Formats: sequence, C-alpha cells, structure tokens
Amino acid sequence: LSEGLKKQGIKGAKFSRVHVIGAGVMGGDIAAWCAYRGMSVTLQDLDMERIKPALDRAKTLFQKRYKKKREVEAAMSRLVADPQGTGVSRADVIIEAVVEKLEVKQAIFSGIEGKMKPGAIMATNTSSIELERIAEALKDPARLIGLHFFNPVAQLPLVEVIRSRFNTDEEIGKGASFALAIGKSPVVVKSAPGFLVNRVLMPYMLGAVERVEKGESKELLDAAAVAFGMPMGPIELMDTVGLDVGKSVATELGHSVPGESRFARLISEGKLGRKTGEGFYKWE
Ligand code: NAD
Repeated sequence: LSEGLKKQGIKGAKFSRVHVIGAGVMGGDIAAWCAYRGMSVTLQDLDMERIKPALDRAKTLFQKRYKKKREVEAAMSRLVADPQGTGVSRADVIIEAVVEKLEVKQAIFSGIEGKMKPGAIMATNTSSIELERIAEALKDPARLIGLHFFNPVAQLPLVEVIRSRFNTDEEIGKGASFALAIGKSPVVVKSAPGFLVNRVLMPYMLGAVERVEKGESKELLDAAAVAFGMPMGPIELMDTVGLDVGKSVATELGHSVPGESRFARLISEGKLGRKTGEGFYKWE
C-alpha cells in the first residue's frame, strides 16, 4: 500500500494535528493512540466531565508503553481537552466518534465544514451508517471519508478506510496515508452496510448471543472461540464493543433484536458491557 500511495504522489501528505470529536470508548482511545504516535491532539465532547475519563485512560496507555516519566508527560501534553472544539480550524485530520445517530453526525459535520482548513481530512468512525447519508449534510460531500478503527484501538492494527461514491483517490489516499502515519494498517473498502468487518462479525456475534438466550453457557462459547484461535470470544467481544453499539450496528444491518430477549433487557437496564461495569459479564 505504501508503494501504491507513493506512486500516487501521496507520500508527501503531512499530518501533525488531529481533532477528535466524541471522547467515549472509541474517540477517547483514538485520540490517545494518535498522541502516543506523536500527533498533537485536541479532544472534544459535550463537556469536560466526559473528556476526563478518556484522559485517564490515555495516561494508563502511555504509562504501559513508555519507560520514562518524561515521555508519559510529553504524550499527555500532546493530548488536550477541547470541549469548545477550538482545534477544528487547525487540524489536519478531524475524526468524529460520537453516538451512532445519523442526525447527530450530520449536525457535527455541517457545523465544522466551514471552519476546517482546506485539504484537511474529515472522517467519521461510524460502524454502520452509509457515508453517503452522512455526507448529504455537507456542501462538499467529497470531503467526508470513513476511518473505522476497531476496539481496543491500541491493540488492533486494522483501520477500514471507507470510500463513498463522492470520494476521489485523493481523499482516500490521504486517509490511508494518515492511517499508516499513526502505525495502523489501512484497508480501503466501499461504503456499504457494515462495511467489511462488521458484515462478517455481526452474524457471528449475534449467533453466539442467540445461543446464550437459548440457555447455553457464555463462558463455554467464549472459551471455544478462544481455543479456535480468536483473541476473545463473541460474548466478551459484545461486552467490549458495547451492547448499545452492537444493537445499533445489528439493526442497521437488518438483524432484529427481540424486545423480550436478555440482550434487550440488559440494554434497558443500562448494562452495556465493559464501559458500564456489566453486560453479559460483570467487569471490575
Ligand atoms: P460512546 O457512547 O462510548 O461515546 C460517544 C461519545 O460521543 C460520548 O462521550 C458522548 O458524550 C459524545 N457525544 C455525543 N454527542 C456529541 C456531540 N454533539 N458533540 C461531541 N460529543 C458528543 O460511543 P463509542 O462506542 O465510542 O462509539 C462512537 C462511534 O464509534 C459510533 O459511531 C460507533 O458506531 C463507532 N464505533 C464503535 C466501536 C465500538 O467498539 N464501541 C467500534 C468502531 C466504531
């Protein structure tokens, strides 16, 4: 891929400032990863309270990965909480990772379009919404690409670079080049429900949830998947992704989640997985 990008003359693209909107599970960890890889990062959410846990997680990541205290401090100083979104106008790359709701994403992009630097990358981390639908809100829909990271961001190298029918090689090349610049492995995919990975992953995860609903042991299912060679089992993965996120991706892909199921009940009780301390499993 690097060779292909070089041939397209895209090698020269320089990225130093990243602005991330949404400091939840994904946005917080994407921001931390970018700061870890040397970028200056601003992190935006609705208020400071929602940004703070992401900064704490970032510190834990830096402490794990760096040996020297001053390296941790330097990385922390590259990651700045920005509830007002002042970083938008300076950023080379903007990554949106807010709730999986079309209207919210559209409002964010139409709000920042006029404030961004010309040529800056405008990317969404959506798991399932077709890019064209988000891009409808833009004056220039060609600007929006998908940069779809995977959870946990620090451990998983893959980034899907999503190409909408409005994009040209330029935006896609820049997106792939940015993914390489932060040490990830880009794979360019077409905008289609679930893109590549979730299209394959969702039936697998929902199939496992269905077995648990029918009374089979989640521990046994997860252990079998790990024995098969998966890094974690499908139920643990659902807890890691977040049950609410899993449900919206499933719905977007046309799978239904029955209202009387355990899955639906856990969601209604706010037991969304690791991020809330309980989902199918209890987490410390
Ligand atoms: P999350 O609920 O943990 O975080 C979303 C954050 O967005 C919250 O902190 C919320 O306060 C913030 N937010 C909401 N509206 C906002 C606004 N108008 N301005 C600024 N911030 C706002 O969600 P998440 O799991 O991090 O998912 C975020 C996105 O990433 C979704 O599009 C999801 O589909 C996608 N995604 C999730 C996963 C996963 O495993 N959870 C993996 C890949 C992609």
